[in-house]
Amino acid sequence: MSSEAPVLKLYNTLSRAKEEFRPLDPANVRMYVCGPTVYDYAHIGNARPIIVFDVLFRLLRHLYGADHVTYVRNITDVDDKINARAAERGITIRELTEGTNKIFQDDVKALGCLEPSVQPRATEHIAEMIALIEKMIAAGHAYAADGHVLFDVPSMAEYGRLSRRPLDEMIAGARVDVAPYKRGDMDFVLWKPSKESEPGWESPWGRGRPGWHLECSAMSWKHLGEVFDIHGGGIDLVFPHHENEIAQTRCAFGHEAMANYWMHNGFLQVEGEKMSKSLGNFVTINELLHTENFGGRKWPGEVLRLAMLRTHYRQPIDFTVKALEEAEASLRKWSAQIGEVSAAPAAAGEVLNALADDLNTPLALASLHELDAAALDGALKLFGIDICAYRQWVEGETKQAVDAEQVSSLISTRLAARTAKNWAESDRIRDELAAMGVALKDNKDGTTTWEVKR
Ligand SMILES: [Zn+2]
Repeated sequence: MSSEAPVLKLYNTLSRAKEEFRPLDPANVRMYVCGPTVYDYAHIGNARPIIVFDVLFRLLRHLYGADHVTYVRNITDVDDKINARAAERGITIRELTEGTNKIFQDDVKALGCLEPSVQPRATEHIAEMIALIEKMIAAGHAYAADGHVLFDVPSMAEYGRLSRRPLDEMIAGARVDVAPYKRGDMDFVLWKPSKESEPGWESPWGRGRPGWHLECSAMSWKHLGEVFDIHGGGIDLVFPHHENEIAQTRCAFGHEAMANYWMHNGFLQVEGEKMSKSLGNFVTINELLHTENFGGRKWPGEVLRLAMLRTHYRQPIDFTVKALEEAEASLRKWSAQIGEVSAAPAAAGEVLNALADDLNTPLALASLHELDAAALDGALKLFGIDICAYRQWVEGETKQAVDAEQVSSLISTRLAARTAKNWAESDRIRDELAAMGVALKDNKDGTTTWEVKR
């Protein structure tokens, strides 16, 4: 870390306090974030942790060096929702998960997110999951019953430390899933038997498949070790998912922690309402980018990203057309201000300080308004906002809106006027095209090409 680097502070859900970040190994800062279950388009709520932790990934790379941060985001490709959807659509599970993952990767790339260092797939870590279960059984924290293996919740004194839920509430929640093979109400599934028609793997407990919580413990162990620095995800994952991940990993390895810093982003609403399919306000990243279903138009990834970062990640966010329009107005202004500057990114002190203070993106964004063009360009890169990509999007959209046939017809007429040395008519047509946002270029070979001006 350079001497002027700010001190990074992160809010830790474990302690409910902002803490100074001290990595276990500054030469390899390790972060895990729960990724998508690939059975359907990711919605805009799913985009929030992806964007938030991408900003943190960029900040960590800035502070510790790009080669000194390992970011793991998993792909859940075994899940009962996947099985059901594949059957419904009459395609194989592999076809469904491959196709959905491809769309997800394209969507998050359009949102300006860097690829994580590793994107492990659950189905490629079954051996690690079985090994983890064996460790838990050996340590007296799990038991096999009726083809299932369950985690024995009462065997872990500190169960519930992350979510701080009252015991009776956790029991009530777990009772939804009553089963004769469970010893305790809160015990959760590590492994379950698979029917012939369901995906399954051979295990010491018969052919079966893992419980959802287990995969994150297995993949974080494989790629980050028994204890690592940061674990992130949406606030809805605190209980039971993250609580159970902690229980599994800690009880398998006997450490005091799975990750030292637990970070959670707040909920997302759409136009003031909870997003749901029944309310008809369910918005996917893909349709925001490629259709006119939200606000009657397409939105570039840079606008979606900026709109998301205008709210602090721990606060609830209201995703609205108005917020997107405001974000776009800022981008347009910055785009004009930056002009042709392509200086090496200067990391502005105020911006870095705000981001280092538990990713205070609203404060960091507010300080952008005082920066000069070069500093602004550098700061936007820290946010993962690429002004060039935004300009290209605008150009592409404008070009689509221009009637190409009309343009070429006007160019032909102008060419005829020029051949007849009717310069006044030629200029008039040039002006007419300029008014449509089209700029002409007369080439040496006598041809005329055109482009849409910004
Ligand atoms: Zn997870």
